[in-house]
Parts: sequence; C-alpha cells; structure tokens
Amino acid sequence: MDEKVVPRKAERLVGVKGMNDILPPESAQWESLEQIVRALMRRHGYENIRTPIVEPTALFVRGLGEVTDIVEKEMYSFEDRLNGEALTLRPENTAGVVRAVVEHSLLYNGGKRLYYMGPMFRHERPQRGRYRQFQQIGAEALGFGGPEVDAEVMLMAHALWAELGLTDIELQLNTLGQPEERKLHRAALIAHFESHVDVLDEEAKRRLHLNPLRLLDSKNPAMQTVVESAPRLLEFLGEQSKAHLDQVCAILKANGVAYRINPRLVRGMDYYNLTVFEFVTTRLGSQGTVCAGGRYDYLVEQVGGKPAPAVGWAMGVERVLELIKESGAKSAIAALDAYAIVGDAKDFPRVMLCLQQLRALGISVQMQSTGAEGMASLKSQFKKADASGARYALVFGKDEMVNDHVTIKDLRNSEQTQQLLPLQDLNRWAKGLQSAT
Ligand code: ATP
Ligand code: MG
Repeated sequence: MDEKVVPRKAERLVGVKGMNDILPPESAQWESLEQIVRALMRRHGYENIRTPIVEPTALFVRGLGEVTDIVEKEMYSFEDRLNGEALTLRPENTAGVVRAVVEHSLLYNGGKRLYYMGPMFRHERPQRGRYRQFQQIGAEALGFGGPEVDAEVMLMAHALWAELGLTDIELQLNTLGQPEERKLHRAALIAHFESHVDVLDEEAKRRLHLNPLRLLDSKNPAMQTVVESAPRLLEFLGEQSKAHLDQVCAILKANGVAYRINPRLVRGMDYYNLTVFEFVTTRLGSQGTVCAGGRYDYLVEQVGGKPAPAVGWAMGVERVLELIKESGAKSAIAALDAYAIVGDAKDFPRVMLCLQQLRALGISVQMQSTGAEGMASLKSQFKKADASGARYALVFGKDEMVNDHVTIKDLRNSEQTQQLLPLQDLNRWAKGLQSAT
C-alpha cells in the first residue's frame, strides 16, 4: 500500500478529525445518561431498536430529500468494493428505523413505539457541539396519526430535561401543514422571493425553485428582511391542520410544558409534515438545538411501505452532556462506593473473595493491584483511593488480616472516621450502606 495509507512506523497515528474518543471519567456521564434514557423509554412503553450503521445511499436520498444539507454535502458515501453497491454511513437514524420497520412488517398489527441510541456521521466543519461522528438518541412512534402522540414524544423529552436538572431549554413548535397546503404556500413563497431576487444569495437562488421553504432557514443577515416578510404557512392551513396543532398545544399546556410557536421553524429534512419542534438552549452558542423532531406521515410510504403516520425526535448526546456541564446541573453520576487497599499480595485470595461478595450486593469497588515492584506503600494507595472519588477506603492491611479484620475509613467526611470490622461483618456493613442510599 502507498505511504499515505500506511505511514512510516514511528509516526504516531491519530483519530479522524471531528471523531472523538470518549474517555473516562467522562464516559461515566455517557453511561449514566444512557441508563436514565433507557428507564425513561421503558416507562413510556418505547422498545429498543438497533439498525446497521451502513445503509444503501438511496435510502437517505429518497427519505431525506435531495435538496437537504445532509444529502447535498454531509454524507460519508462509498462504493462497496465487491459489488459496487452505493453505501452510506448513516447521517441520521429515522430513515433506517423506517426501513427496518417496513422490511420486517413491524406495523402489521398496529403502531410501534421505538427508540435507538448510536453514532451518526456527517461531514461537517467540526466545532463545539458539531462533530463528524456524534451520538444521537431517538424516539419514533410509528403507526399513530393523532396529535396526542406528538405531545407524548415531547412530554417524554421534557421529562428527561427535568430528570437531568436542565431548566434552560425552550420548546419551539411549528406546523408544516399538509402537502396540499404547502403547495399553495410554496407558490406564494416563490412569488415573494422572485419579487426580491436582488437580495438573494447564490444558494438561495439555486434553492428557490427546488425547495423555497429552505430559504426561510437562511442565516444570511442580508436576507433577513425579505425572509421576515415572506408569506406564512399559517395563512394557508386548513381546519384539520389547525385542529391538530391546537390539540398538541392543549396537551402541553395541561402538562405545564411551556412552548413558543416559531413560524420560522422548518427543519432540515423533507420528510416532515404537520408538527415540527426543537428544544433549544441559549447556553451552547450557535449549536443550541439539543433535540429536534416532528411528524413524518409520508416517509413510510416513501421507503416502500404501506402508508403509515409517524412522529419522533432525535437528540444530540454531546450537546446534552455539554449543557449539563455548562449549567452545573446536579450530576446523576455516582462515584465508586469503595476502594480496597491491600497490604500484602499474599492476602489477595481472601481479599478478592470479600470484594466479589460486596459486588454481588451491588457495591461498586475497585482495588489497588501490584506493580512490577510489588504492592505500593499504604500512603500511595490512600492517595489513589482518594483520587478515585470513592466514598470509603477498605483497608486490608497486614495487621488487619492477621485477625481477619478490615478497617473501613470514610474518605468523604471531614473527620475521616474509621471503624475496625471483622471480615464476616463486611456484608452486613454493605447492606447497611445500600439501605442508607
Ligand atoms: P443543525 O441545524 O444544528 O445542523 P440538524 O437540523 O442538522 O441540526 P438533526 O438532523 O435534526 O439536526 O439532528 C437532531 C439533533 O442531533 C440536533 O438537534 C443536534 O442536537 C444533533 N446533531 C445534529 N448534527 C450534529 C453534529 N454534527 N454534531 C453533534 N450533534 C449533532
Ligand atoms: Mg445539520
């Protein structure tokens, strides 16, 4: 192979730009968030689905729409070496979930509530809150057309913020109406922008006839006035679409969920209709959308299934974790319960039996192990115990072990109280600890 692919031996290899390693201790935050989400999903009756990271490119082109940021410039696409099949690393997972649901006829006897977690890939310019591999958690309710299910998925996300102690998140809501209503609006939009063609940038001009709705999404300051004065979809909505939005709002209100109607919220993908929404924070700079979603009643059919309505959202895990850090919200992450300090390597058989028994009782415990020069000094082991964040040090020192005892030292109270305990009482201590927390 050429040198570009396999560099000289001594050259240090680094990871791909925009794709990050998640290292301890931060990985504990990830695990904890995932655990909280799993419990939340179970409480709402959402089942886990795991689809491949690679899908046929056509799925995204057809599902997301050709005139979208993702399909136009963000996909990692490649050709299968053997059969030339066009493949893509998934940039999002709604299309994949819908493909799987159709392929395996999961809607044969009614709707399905599903959730997923996993990495997505988009070729974007890496910056805070925007990466090339990033993690999404998503919820999709398929086969349900009622506005109460739109509200259900939003309530679920809202409950998550509450559980994570996050308060600075605003729910923005809009409706995209139905295709016929959009067609009327589209014609009005084209007419509006055509009469202001002198202020449009190149991208806007190119998209004007392909997808004029996307012009409302423009971040170009020079276009803001003409965007602001563009005709609103609201003026073209029929009674049913209006009633759908009203019911979503009524349910949110009854549940004490504040929201703001944002007529300019359009979302990047073509597959949305009726309700679209974003949960936005001002604490993360310009990457402030932590969760986004909406109703997509035509995607199942688009992917070749029998028509079925659906609604869902996806959240960016990196952004949620960053927001937790930023707002100093109470971390739900538990440190180690205990750290075992061992005086003599000869005692490991007995010590490790104790530790396994503690773990069986649900106590998290890590131990000091030997280095090349045998056990480290007790002093250096205590330093490690302290740095580990553990609540207690369990000291299996030589003096203790002679009489089958262990010293338990509370590392997190100012007096550092300690007690000497017979080994046989260790399990009782552990149970006391469990019931105290
Ligand atoms: P943006 O406008 O920020 O590009 P988007 O509309 O492309 O967002 P979606 O496709 O709706 O985003 O994805 C849902 C969520 O996934 C986003 O709200 C965000 O939290 C997260 N997300 C999207 N792209 C990235 C990325 N490149 N890096 C990290 N998180 C991302
Ligand atoms: Mg994007």
